[in-house]
Amino acid sequence: ATPTAILVGTGIGAEKGLLIKGGDVLETVHQLNAIVFDKTGTLTVGHPSVTDCLTFTSLNKQELLQLAATVESGTNHPLASAMVEAAQQQDLPLLKAQNFHTEGGLGVSAIIDKKTVLLGNQDWLSHHHIPLNHEILFQGELLTKAGKTVVYLALDGEIQGMIALKDSLRPDAQATVLELQKRGLEVILVTGDHPQVANAIATQLGINQVFAQIRPQGKAAIIQQLQQSKIVAMVGDGINDAPALAQANLGITLQGSTQVAIETADIVLMGNRLRDVVGAIDLSLATFTKIR
Ligand code: ADP
Ligand code: MG
Repeated sequence: ATPTAILVGTGIGAEKGLLIKGGDVLETVHQLNAIVFDKTGTLTVGHPSVTDCLTFTSLNKQELLQLAATVESGTNHPLASAMVEAAQQQDLPLLKAQNFHTEGGLGVSAIIDKKTVLLGNQDWLSHHHIPLNHEILFQGELLTKAGKTVVYLALDGEIQGMIALKDSLRPDAQATVLELQKRGLEVILVTGDHPQVANAIATQLGINQVFAQIRPQGKAAIIQQLQQSKIVAMVGDGINDAPALAQANLGITLQGSTQVAIETADIVLMGNRLRDVVGAIDLSLATFTKIR
């Protein structure tokens, strides 16, 4: 394409709510043959809410939620906000805590009342050598099979309970996936969440390639692997997606995403509508066929 055509394309992009960073971006768009989506905050709205609190010790549900909200108060992950909100709704004040720590794709920890509180997925607990018995694993599986994300809370090395959270799909997620598939693109889901949660979402959306329980660096490695045979776009919103957005031939993020995702991406969907990904592809096709 001529520089003028690219400028025109970029201008139309702005009208369509696409912030396109640089002239060569649209050229990459029309060469794409695979598009990888993050789950939380990308295919889903990213505002999960707490649906279940289960305790396995003398701790009651309120105490469990209060501890969870306190440990999460140092983070801005969507799951964190959901637990803080749930505690607020039940008028549970945050406790005094120190040494907040966040481990991307795993969970969080803090010291509360001289006790170490851990909150996160199964990997986060096994990382700290905290065993989960059959009963707990069984309960967790029931919840994940229902498409809920489950986090486990341990106090000084002992599991206390679990909290389940449910997020909803973006209203345009299904149409977006279908339109991309119609244009011959392979649509792939990659998430840090549990395989059962990932599969529940993929089935609803008609996505048949799923990578679950993937840490942030693992997301970038998957993109790299796909790039051996394909030109790959990544759509993501979180800090945990930034390495993958950078690795992809094309990084796409949404308005309202984490700052580092917005800085790393090549296209920002300014209207915060997932279906504008399709608009970007159509715009690129139009720009590059007009010239030839
Ligand atoms: P996604 O790839 O879907 O955006 P993340 O990589 O952010 O998800 O998180 C993957 C998993 O790691 C979550 O499903 C959760 O089990 C755990 N996790 C991440 N951050 C937190 C947190 N702040 N609190 C509890 N668990 C967390
Ligand atoms: Mg995300």
